[in-house]
Amino acid sequence: MIEAFTFLANPARVIFGSGTILQIVEELALLGVKRPLVLSTEFQAKAAAEAIEKAGVETAGHFAGAAMHTPVSVTQEALAHYEAAQADGVISFGGGSTIGLGKAIALRNNAPQLVIPTTYAGSEMTAIVGQTENDRKHTQTTPKVLPETVIYDVDLTLTLPRAMSVTSGMNAIAHAVEAMYAQNANPILSLLAEEGIRALSSALDRIAAGATDNIDARTDALYGAWLCATCLGLGGVALHHKLCHVLGGSFGLPHAETHTIVLPHALAYNAPCVPQAMERLRRATGADNPASHLFDIAKRADVDVALKALDMPKDCIERAVDITLENPYFNPRPLEREPLVALLANAFEGTRPQ
Ligand code: NAD
Repeated sequence: MIEAFTFLANPARVIFGSGTILQIVEELALLGVKRPLVLSTEFQAKAAAEAIEKAGVETAGHFAGAAMHTPVSVTQEALAHYEAAQADGVISFGGGSTIGLGKAIALRNNAPQLVIPTTYAGSEMTAIVGQTENDRKHTQTTPKVLPETVIYDVDLTLTLPRAMSVTSGMNAIAHAVEAMYAQNANPILSLLAEEGIRALSSALDRIAAGATDNIDARTDALYGAWLCATCLGLGGVALHHKLCHVLGGSFGLPHAETHTIVLPHALAYNAPCVPQAMERLRRATGADNPASHLFDIAKRADVDVALKALDMPKDCIERAVDITLENPYFNPRPLEREPLVALLANAFEGTRPQ
């Protein structure tokens, strides 16, 4: 039986497919943008310039200084470019770092954003912006930063390296997994999550086995990543995200890699208390034990499956559990010290989730 629920949706215009970047001129016209400033990282400057020129866009300029965690100093520099060029909107070409810069600009001047994501991180579907100043990251949620138009072009993801594809994809899957049993879970989010995990996990399995330039695998991966990103934008989180926030925030562990290692263990912890979500996960992955299945995909891709490989000191396990228990997130299974220490000990050693 379906219980009463509340469902919210974020507005978005989404163009999906192969070669879709060629639709950018008409999409800019729909937005009323005549002088877009192109944003990218330095690493993707050439790829962005070539793709946008090939699509026939006349731009107001290109700022290729996007950086991880959206430093406010970089945003100020980009804003100076925006104003000097008399731009009237941004094209964010890249992953979460570049999309974050576009959002930070929109936060300050309401610039319309056309986003072309090239990773599976999913920032394009959320109203969240995280910014860094004086070594501290502040996150806020406001509809002001939601991108107006998102063009997913599968062709642009073919260059994403195998390991980054898998860790970025696992991070996306984690959002969908927890959306199914977070406090604001609802049947619509569960549908999106199941379909997102089905498409993305099957694609990651193929990409992990080496099919990095296979257009079918990349199409499934980007489609699944979009749905999982929608879960991130609309859904809640639970134990898995709490552990990753503690490990990242207090011990400096890298974001997507930490999610990849912790997810199978956090899922195994919650499994006995979320039978409906587990049934969906079994259907989505085609595996009797979804937690083990996700662990195996990471192993196949040769990415780290042990926290010790990320240089986390072993004596941090107890401290990480203490911090988790000090200010816990909602979780469907009560948080108990001993099982949590066992969970992190398994994640530390990289043993199969139990
Ligand atoms: P990223 O944007 O930092 O990209 C990592 C590197 O990969 C960069 O050098 C980039 O240029 C390169 N790259 C991107 N796409 C490529 C491709 N197709 N081929 C080759 N190289 C490519 O990494 P990310 O994981 O996409 O984003 C991480 C950032 O996004 C973090 O700061 C995270 O906090 C943020 N994020 C924010 C939200 C949100 O809702 N606000 C959601 C997810 C992630």
